[in-house]
Formats: sequence, C-alpha cells, structure tokens
Amino acid sequence: MSSSSSPAVLLNTGVQMPLLGLGTYKLVGPEDVYQAVDAALAAGYRSFDSAAVYRNEADLGRVLKELLPKHGLTREDVFITSKLGPKDQGEGAMEGALRSLAQLDLGYIDLYLIHWPGTQGCVVTDQRNPGNRAESWAALEKLHAQGKLKAIGVSNYTPAHMRELMQSCKIPPAVLQVEFHPKFCQTELRKVCEEYGVCFQAYSSLGKGDLVTNPVVLEVAKNCERTPAQVLLRWAVQQGVPVLPKSSNPDRIKDNARLFDFTLSDTDMDRLSALDCGHKFCRDASQVV
Ligand code: NAP
Repeated sequence: MSSSSSPAVLLNTGVQMPLLGLGTYKLVGPEDVYQAVDAALAAGYRSFDSAAVYRNEADLGRVLKELLPKHGLTREDVFITSKLGPKDQGEGAMEGALRSLAQLDLGYIDLYLIHWPGTQGCVVTDQRNPGNRAESWAALEKLHAQGKLKAIGVSNYTPAHMRELMQSCKIPPAVLQVEFHPKFCQTELRKVCEEYGVCFQAYSSLGKGDLVTNPVVLEVAKNCERTPAQVLLRWAVQQGVPVLPKSSNPDRIKDNARLFDFTLSDTDMDRLSALDCGHKFCRDASQVV
C-alpha cells in the first residue's frame, strides 16, 4: 500500500500501517459515514478502523468505493481494519470473519482483529474462553493464508492472553489494539509487545473526549499553540504508537490529523506521562480467563 501521504509503522508482515487512522465507533448510517470518510480522506487519513459490532462495515465499504476515485485513490492506498465480534468467538469465527469480508466488500481486509478475549454469553471466568480464543485464531490464520486477511491481530488482550497466544499460534499477531492515553500508559503490555514484535496500537487516545479538558493537557496545548486533541495524539505517535481518533465532525477530523508538523519537548512528554494512574474509560478485560 502507498503510505506516501501518511507516516506509517512497519508490521511484522512486512506491510506498512499508517500511524493515523479514523476511529469509527458510533459512526453509523450512510450519510454520517460518507461525511466523516470524505473529510478524513481530504485531510490525509489513509486508515479506517471498523468492527462487526460497530454495524458500519457495509456503509464504510460502500462509501469508500464511492469516495476513493473522488480523491484520486485506489483500494491499495487505504488500510482497512475490522474485528471479529465476541458473539462469533470460537466456532463462529470463520463465518464471522467471512461476514465482515462480505459486508466491507473491498476484496480483502488489511487487518482483522479478535475484538475481545472473552466470548459473548460466557462469564469472564468461563473455562471455554481460552479454547474459543484458540479456535478464532486458527480461523483467522486460515483466512490470512488465503490472502483474505492481509494481517491478523488481537484487541483488549492482557499480557497473559498475549503469552497464551504466542505459545500456541502458527502465525504471530501483527497488532494488539488497546486503550492507551496519558492516564493509562500500559507499561507492561507495551513491553510484552516489544518482546514479541507485535505493533502496539492505541484506541481512545482522547479518553473518549474527556481528556481534552484535562488541565495538564490544556497547559501543554497552550504552550505549544496546538489543540488539546493534537497534544494527546502527538504524545502517542511520538512514541511510535499508532492512533485512531474518532470524530464525526469534519473540522475536528481535519484538526486531529495535524500531528506530524510539530514535536512535544521531553518535558511536555514527561508531564503527560506522569498523568498515568491506571484510569480506563473503556471495558476492562483483565478478569477474562
Ligand atoms: P476517542 O477517539 O478517544 O474520542 C472520541 C470522542 O472525542 C468523540 O466523542 C468525539 O466527538 C470527541 N472528539 C474527537 N475529536 C475531538 C477534538 N478535536 N476535540 C474535542 N473532542 C473531540 O474515543 P473512541 O471512539 O473510544 O476511540 C477511538 C476509536 O478507537 C473508536 O472509534 C474505535 O474505532 C476504536 N476503539 C476500539 C476499541 C476496541 O475494543 N478495540 C474500543 C474503543 C475504541 P465528535 O465525534 O463529536 O467529534
């Protein structure tokens, strides 16, 4: 894929993944998806993060087919991520992944993740969870070998889930996508990813919007004459961590993409990292066996 307009990280598959992608959770309906993707492509986004549970795969695929030519782009210029829903974890994984491929209808998916370490309908302590994860991974490996899923990975896995997967997989995960922002720095998980050569990718970098009003973030933003959202996103990409800010607002989509023409000082990076307090804005997977 062409990454000329978007700084990228090299995955262990040998493929580049853009450092910036548009999050699409809660972006639903053809008009909203069209408006956001149009603004994102114009602002230089080349990566889009969807999931079966977001119920927007079909709209995203349709809108991209319409908008890529408008922006002088082809399928190969964009990087599409989607995820296997927890209801399909285990024996439903092959069917679930094929459904995502059919919904997006873009020929292949650049990155397909197991969305959650647990299975819908199983309690966190259910002993079927590990077997279901392994069955899902085997299905993803098959579709990867067929070229339908160019890279495969996981999301919301803990260090223990990662170790379990590394011990049993034939193909190692390319990406781990998890919550990551100054209040939740995930030090142990980042070390595990580094050890295994897995790309650590951030979601909820803006703390679902909450962190843009944090006093330290506001002060750093004022000092460097940037928006609080740009500061939060820059803090991650400056550490080599890809981000997926979500916005349905075209001005914010454009604003959130201006990350690669400034640098945060070491002092500002440290001030932001010092906010780490283990605070999560999203669901916690640490109890899933
Ligand atoms: P986020 O990107 O941290 O924050 C999104 C919120 O911030 C929205 O309410 C948005 O509102 C607001 N916002 C965006 N830009 C802003 C700006 N410049 N100034 C002020 N507010 C701004 O949250 P997220 O949606 O939870 O995470 C991002 C993406 O990561 C998701 O969309 C999804 O693709 C992915 N994700 C994955 C998982 C997983 O389990 N794998 C979990 C969560 C998220 P407006 O839309 O009104 O601008």
